[in-house]
Amino acid sequence: MANIIDGKLISTQIKDELKEKVANLKKEGKQITLAVIQVGNDPASTVYVGNKKKACEYIGINSLAYELPEDITEESLLKTIEELNNDDKVNGILVQLPLPKHIDEDKVIKTIAPEKDVDGFHPSSVGALLIGQEGFLPCTPAGIIQLIKRSGISIEGKECVVIGRSNIVGKPMGVLLLRENGTVTITHSKTKNLKKVCKRADILVVAIGKPKMIDASYVKDGAVVIDVGIHRNADNKLCGDVDFDSVEKVASYITPVPGGVGPMTIAMLMQNCVNSVR
Ligand code: NAD
Repeated sequence: MANIIDGKLISTQIKDELKEKVANLKKEGKQITLAVIQVGNDPASTVYVGNKKKACEYIGINSLAYELPEDITEESLLKTIEELNNDDKVNGILVQLPLPKHIDEDKVIKTIAPEKDVDGFHPSSVGALLIGQEGFLPCTPAGIIQLIKRSGISIEGKECVVIGRSNIVGKPMGVLLLRENGTVTITHSKTKNLKKVCKRADILVVAIGKPKMIDASYVKDGAVVIDVGIHRNADNKLCGDVDFDSVEKVASYITPVPGGVGPMTIAMLMQNCVNSVR
């Protein structure tokens, strides 16, 4: 049976470390302020934004909430971002995605000043990540690296397979594992023999968006399996992209859903906010 990687515990450790750093910064007279913009009132986004505000409160970061109407024009949203870019009291800006269809997400991401891009989605943050320069790391993959390292698992020299090549999870995940000296393969919907490729993995990161798609037949004995997926099934229960009951019998370590990757994403957002000041 696999060891369960406790994302809730590890994320709390990180948040407690950050809380101390924020208290020290306050002693130096430095405050941290995160502006969170939500457009419309999609229920999932409201939950995510609420959790981010709670984490800010816990750590001692000020949060400014901008709840903008669903039918706001793109121009007006971009104007709000520009005002926040120019506001010296604001250290980080986060626009909760997805945005309504009439707004161009790429344009919005590019409008956020790179030095306030705490989600790490701006092309200049992505470029810095690729060439190994300092910059904000995208929160979910950065959180996964922390989960692996803080569980005492070494990445160097390991066969790492990532399933999924999205800009927010799969691609940056591959780059971060490479940075840790893993031997990385990124797979996707057009990959041939997915099962065979996955079976090679010492570390398998699954970010497909398909409930319970990965069962034990994709997993090498003793592999570390990280499940990024989040889905709500017909009984209103959460599950991931990994069939947990099947995979925990062959893996050496596995992340649960909920309580695995999810809490780490917010912890790393908080880390980026703290880094925005330091
Ligand atoms: P996405 O839809 O943007 O990308 C999915 C990727 O999976 C694509 O690159 C696609 O090529 C690949 N894929 C699809 N079908 C496949 C198949 N049959 N075989 C192999 N590859 C296949 O999704 P995303 O934004 O990367 O998110 C993935 C999952 O992670 C979703 O369930 C999402 O809700 C979840 N997620 C969780 C967090 C978190 O904080 N826990 C953060 C982001 C995303």
